[in-house]
Amino acid sequence: MRISEMYRSIQGESTYAGRPCTFIRTAGCSLRCGYCDTEHALSFKAGEEMTLDAAIEQAAALGLDLVEVTGGEPLEQPETPELCRRLIERGALVLIETSGAFDVGVLPPGTIRIMDIKTPGSRMARRNRWENLGLLTSRDEIKFVLTSREDYDWAAELCRQHGLFELCPVHFSPTFGSVEPVELAQWILNDNLPARLQLQLHKYIWPPDARGV
Ligand code: SF4
Repeated sequence: MRISEMYRSIQGESTYAGRPCTFIRTAGCSLRCGYCDTEHALSFKAGEEMTLDAAIEQAAALGLDLVEVTGGEPLEQPETPELCRRLIERGALVLIETSGAFDVGVLPPGTIRIMDIKTPGSRMARRNRWENLGLLTSRDEIKFVLTSREDYDWAAELCRQHGLFELCPVHFSPTFGSVEPVELAQWILNDNLPARLQLQLHKYIWPPDARGV
């Protein structure tokens, strides 16, 4: 499979934020969100070709307590479900960060799916694979990256209509440098919305454009 980079860092998102975590970043994504912060991994030629065995051994050298498979878009790599299965078999708690544009049902049981729902402001909302909503469980998590008040209203309404707040943790994340955290905090408080305000922790610990963290 094609791997863009692998590294150990502090998990910056989801309910696992703050925990040391091994990141496996696959190469390639066919979406083009306006706020993408992993442009170096968007090309399907980024990084290097690795066998599953080599990828797992490299990850094991970093630590298999908590592993996040991210991208790019990991579900555009056909080997990703098998990678997750084998990591779980080795005792890892496996998170996958996905755009929500591909079938999350291909992942083995035990994989914790952290799934984006793309807002209109991302310019990729047409790529949402709505059937995925019926596949998520209470162990999974949903993330909206919000670029504006309009995105916030759209996301809040969608969550209410589909009962997403009752389904699993729902993260509302402000686009870095576009929506101020204090603004989003106030919107959530004013509406008493059961969303979790998510700041990308790693962008506060390290410079926002740092790679491999
Ligand atoms: S889905 Fe993720 S990796 Fe792909 S363009 Fe959007 S933000 Fe970037």
